[in-house]
Amino acid sequence: MSAFNFNGVTMNSDSQRGERSNNGLRFVFVVGGVLSGLGKGVVTASIAGLIQAYGYEVTAIKIDPYVNIDAGTMRPTEHGEVFVTEDGGEIDQDLGTYERFLDVNLPKKNNITTGQVYLAVIQRERALEYGGKDVQIIPDVMNEVKRRILEASQGYDVAVVEVGGTTGDIENLVFLHAIRSLSLEYPSVTVMVTYAPFLKNVGELKTKPTQHAVAKLRETGIFPDFVVVRSELGLDEPRIEKIARSCFIPRENIIDDPDLDSIYRLPLLFERQNFVSKILQKLELEKKKDDMGPWRDFVEKIDRAKKPVRIAIVGKYVAYGNAEHKDVYISVIEAVKHAAYNLELKPEIKQVSSLDIEKKGAESLLKDFDGVIVPGGFGESGVEGKIGAIRYCRENNIPFLGLCFGMQLAVVEFARNVCGLEGAHTTEVDPNTPHPVVDIIPEQKELIAKRMYGATMRLGAWPAVLKKDTLVHKLYGRKEVSERHRHRYEVNPKYVGLLEKHGLVFSGTSPDGVLMEFLELPDHKFFVATQAHPEFKSRPLRPHPLFFGFVKASAGMRLF
Ligand code: GLN
Repeated sequence: MSAFNFNGVTMNSDSQRGERSNNGLRFVFVVGGVLSGLGKGVVTASIAGLIQAYGYEVTAIKIDPYVNIDAGTMRPTEHGEVFVTEDGGEIDQDLGTYERFLDVNLPKKNNITTGQVYLAVIQRERALEYGGKDVQIIPDVMNEVKRRILEASQGYDVAVVEVGGTTGDIENLVFLHAIRSLSLEYPSVTVMVTYAPFLKNVGELKTKPTQHAVAKLRETGIFPDFVVVRSELGLDEPRIEKIARSCFIPRENIIDDPDLDSIYRLPLLFERQNFVSKILQKLELEKKKDDMGPWRDFVEKIDRAKKPVRIAIVGKYVAYGNAEHKDVYISVIEAVKHAAYNLELKPEIKQVSSLDIEKKGAESLLKDFDGVIVPGGFGESGVEGKIGAIRYCRENNIPFLGLCFGMQLAVVEFARNVCGLEGAHTTEVDPNTPHPVVDIIPEQKELIAKRMYGATMRLGAWPAVLKKDTLVHKLYGRKEVSERHRHRYEVNPKYVGLLEKHGLVFSGTSPDGVLMEFLELPDHKFFVATQAHPEFKSRPLRPHPLFFGFVKASAGMRLF
């Protein structure tokens, strides 16, 4: 028996009969061709953002074809940033892009991976829930994908679903079948994102990879309604005609998507091509309103931002081979941009390798920056470089913002160089330190001993209470805050008194007062750190107060 009921929707193995559901839900599917890294996430977020601005309840879902259950166990060099949701998901960074464009908090179930899908199917099989039938990729695995998409879509008018990977990859085939099946049951639109390379030696933009990608997608039974063509400089009329003709897609449904200096311009570029209005038309929905005004104002601020503010992000994941890593600290970078643009400043952000700082010294690498961020991190590599950067900021009155590991290392630096605790460290890096000023949270110790690494850190949103009249309190403008976390280590409560005696102010703690969540130095231009990851909650139209204060201080502006 493979039919089952899910929230009133009957799912069964032969659910490809083309029956239309009438519960009002509609889908936009976004798939990719030619190559990865085209910015499908930004395309998805822009489509969802515009549908929302036109008056509909929208959610966005990311499918990741890898076998991992989540991104939490993946090396950032492998997969970019691990984004953390309010409900503690360690997930794909695209969800961060969706949250920033939609200004909503998305739950972790909006990130579906091959690992989750197979785990659920196998657990169901072990519980005899398939009643002795042989369990197959089509329909059983496919139905589990559909079930998950539907579960995440419940209650929305439109769900925009991005299928990760490239059409033709072995991994995403079952997901393509799932969306094809859903598109027979629900009003749906499929958008394919491709790439048109410019060949310098012939001086021509080539459309052939796009033609092949569309043909490849059709092999799975999916006929894209729109093709968004990424390119360096944009499409010209003959190229648009050619793609339309060879892919049998109306000319007006070929969307031009050249490289932009800011991803936040993309919704406006789509608007100029009436892209999302055409999607709504196909879904038989009307444009009920137009709430894009604040977004347009924000983009105008980007246009006006001329005065530079130079920010260094000191981390170890800076380069991968010959390329600079753009994704590892993506939410931190975006949070700086949100603050800077809203102040009409031009952010010049550079990732500085903490390993290089170890070799060349903090001053030589950081002297040309207005402010320094030490973001989250794990492990030993580059740690002394990060500590050196923090010391340089503290001693030279340079605005500093420490995030998670950045806060822990600020405590290490202060303990060593102000409190005189020689060899002070976090036990993550030096388990035998004489002064374990940062130590593992007791429950975490047990989990590690059992090798239970996946999804076991202190994760998701946790409340904190701020100390009255501290800088952090004034920046937030309220006493109780909630921020997202992802860590196993904490400031050791045994050292708090000593650190405070030497002038470090813990400006916020967990409500029970046990965990130190924020710190600051009163006699400094801006020296603030937090155990949390505030970068995950910064939005273009609502920059995060800590980043806002940090960028202001870096630009030499008055804080209040
Ligand atoms: N490695 C540190 C910990 O586990 C910090 C983690 C982080 O920066 N996200 O506590």
